[in-house]
Amino acid sequence: MKMLKKIDVYLKKTVTLMVYDDSRKKIAFVGLNAVLALVSLIMSVVNIFTAEYILMISTLVFSLGCGLNIVLYRAKVNVSVIYAIFAAEAMTLLAFFFVSGIPDGFSALWICLIPSFALLIFGRKDGGIFCLIALMMIIFLFWIPAGKALLQYTYSDTFMLRFPFLYSAIFIISFLAEIVRRETHKQLVDSERKYRYLYRHDALTGLFNRYGINEYMDEAFHNPADKHAAIMILDIDNFKRVNDRYGHNAGDQVLKTVAQIPQHLLCEHSRYCRWGGEEFLILMQCSHDPLEMAEKVRKKVEETEISYEGNTIKVTISIGVCLTKDVSRFTIPQVINSADNCLYEAKGNGKNQVRSCLLE
Ligand code: GH3
Ligand code: MG
Ligand code: MG
Repeated sequence: MKMLKKIDVYLKKTVTLMVYDDSRKKIAFVGLNAVLALVSLIMSVVNIFTAEYILMISTLVFSLGCGLNIVLYRAKVNVSVIYAIFAAEAMTLLAFFFVSGIPDGFSALWICLIPSFALLIFGRKDGGIFCLIALMMIIFLFWIPAGKALLQYTYSDTFMLRFPFLYSAIFIISFLAEIVRRETHKQLVDSERKYRYLYRHDALTGLFNRYGINEYMDEAFHNPADKHAAIMILDIDNFKRVNDRYGHNAGDQVLKTVAQIPQHLLCEHSRYCRWGGEEFLILMQCSHDPLEMAEKVRKKVEETEISYEGNTIKVTISIGVCLTKDVSRFTIPQVINSADNCLYEAKGNGKNQVRSCLLE
């Protein structure tokens, strides 16, 4: 009972991976090769008893080949080389089935597995071509007299007539299933990308949010590109009044416009995020003078006129800047708190100004 439960869990996991994850190729490839290796090994042993020694050696070699495929695949050898070996082996196995005269149903089952695995492993285009070539071979061997003569084993007439249709039907079903699977996978990847974006960005301004800037902060403090990194906190002055006077939507428009301003002034190594409500944080890591930069941003905001539904709105900002001599000697909260204290100083001193401090 416990074993059955384990198998059930494993199958569900495998199916989920096949549908949602690109590692399905790995599962399909390794799984198919493992099954082929086992079956051909059994065939090889059976052939000892029937004294078909050539067939015994060939199936044994084939079994080892499948095992080698798994080893090569796990060792990350160039995939196209492994696929080529795999295709050659699959064709050889089919030839064995025809020559050795395995009963109809069994060989038919193997051939009908081609579309599902080929489409999973090679994808729609290459897998489709692979299946079509196999279909042409089947038509040749089952319908064309010259091909029929090549088959050493004689199948029943009805089977000869029906088999190409059976194969085509399975090919079409597998192809449609692969389209659905690809679509589901694409949707999942898209929604995951969207989720990742939303997790790290602010929906209103499109800037990073706190989580988004965190990894840059860690990098800047622990492995600094610029030892003199500075942190600035910008806060819109009397923003509550904007909301009260013009409405929340106008407030949103102001936030979006102010958010754009530093972006055009910052150098490429600096990072910028919406820190909270009407507060922004800049991590500056470049040769520009942070105080000069802060003053430029403050001035630009002061000069900007924001139009919203016939109103012209003007706002100012206060900025607290914390400069460091060697950023790696401080923790992130230490520098942020110092910048915050400077901001409060700027607010207390009449707003619309830059205040700074230096951590040595
Ligand atoms: P101070 O000059 O001292 O900074 O005053 P203030 O009014 O700017 O600051 P306060 O902290 O009193 O108010 C901030 C306001 O920002 C309150 C809140 O409603 C508003 N706010 C926060 N997030 C948003 C937002 O996303 N959109 C809009 N429209 N308003 C927001
Ligand atoms: Mg505030
Ligand atoms: Mg404010």
